[in-house]
Amino acid sequence: MKLHEYQSKQIFARYGIPIPQGRVAATADEAKQIAKELGGRVVIKSQVLVGGRGKAGGIRLARSPEEAGELAAMILAMEIKGLPVRKVLVDQAASIDKEIYLGITNDRSARRPVMMASSAGGVEIEEVARLTPDKIIKVHIDPLLGLRDYQARDIAAGIDLPRDYWRTFGQIAHALWQAYQECDATLAEINPLVTTADKQLIALDGKMLIDDNALYRQTTLAEMRDLDVEAPSEIEARRYGLSFIKLDGNIGCMVNGAGLAMTTMDIIKLFGGSPANFLDIGGGASSEKVAAALRIILSDSNVKAVLYNIFGGITRCDEVARGILAALAEVKTQVPMVVRLVGTNAEEGRQILAQANMITAETLADAAQKAVAVATGG
Ligand code: GDP
Ligand code: MN
Repeated sequence: MKLHEYQSKQIFARYGIPIPQGRVAATADEAKQIAKELGGRVVIKSQVLVGGRGKAGGIRLARSPEEAGELAAMILAMEIKGLPVRKVLVDQAASIDKEIYLGITNDRSARRPVMMASSAGGVEIEEVARLTPDKIIKVHIDPLLGLRDYQARDIAAGIDLPRDYWRTFGQIAHALWQAYQECDATLAEINPLVTTADKQLIALDGKMLIDDNALYRQTTLAEMRDLDVEAPSEIEARRYGLSFIKLDGNIGCMVNGAGLAMTTMDIIKLFGGSPANFLDIGGGASSEKVAAALRIILSDSNVKAVLYNIFGGITRCDEVARGILAALAEVKTQVPMVVRLVGTNAEEGRQILAQANMITAETLADAAQKAVAVATGG
């Protein structure tokens, strides 16, 4: 789950990381009012869950409350990389000396978190990582020991940070680690962390990703989820506890088990087709859940065929079949359907589906080939 900049920075602030004063506005008038209260120059920052807002024109500097209102109106009317801007953050402007990058993520191959830092922070950090990777300092963190003081000092030295800042930098690095760990984050990033004309270190931008699997215990973070910016099908899927990811192909897939779902997608591709989604209905899915899954699949107008690949273990094939019928009674569709049922109560399942006018398949290869054929009008 992605958090907005303003949410991430509020979390950072709770851990003691200095952030600019500022507030969120949903209208130009609110933005103007906030700018008035803050006094002086402000930055108007689009709150959308994509990177590169600055380059897209979604971050603008305003010299007066009037200008703040005008720029906010403009930014609130924008779409950035396909996402509408619904809120702006109005922050007191900083006078930047240097822009630093500081972030923590999981390094899967090292099997531990890694703190990364660079003196070349700011909007070009991806280019820096690509062209001059040696300008990025990496320090792995032992999850049991946490970030050690010497590691924070190594990083400060590695990015040539002047000594005067080391103490504050150490506090910020520790706070970022603490936030990362306690929030079950998979990314906690400050880009840029700036040194200012009056010798302060301030986090101007913030980004956090929270591990979805930890949301059950991160209840306050879970409530921060911004439903405005997610695909409606994914919100609906989450409501029913389905693992669903929308893709760009035209064969809708309903599968039980994540591994089997991946395999099904691979085999569709092997036979020249393209999956419209990843969908794992999970073990022991009820017919209500199956019906919800089918509604979600069919709500995608790209879908030209549906492939059911159900391996009945804990999940019973007759229960799945009943769910399919329930959904089909509700959603009238002409989309052809290929079904492969194997395992627990497969025979009962097939009997239930006999009345539903579906294409049946014995093996997965057979099912995938038939789905590809009907999806392409065969
Ligand atoms: P991003 O493009 O989505 O990463 O948005 P950022 O919040 O990182 O802003 C992009 C760039 O805008 C920063 O790297 C800064 O150069 C600039 N910027 C952001 N806030 C301020 C500010 O308060 N003062 C000044 N002068 N520049 C700012
Ligand atoms: Mn940034």
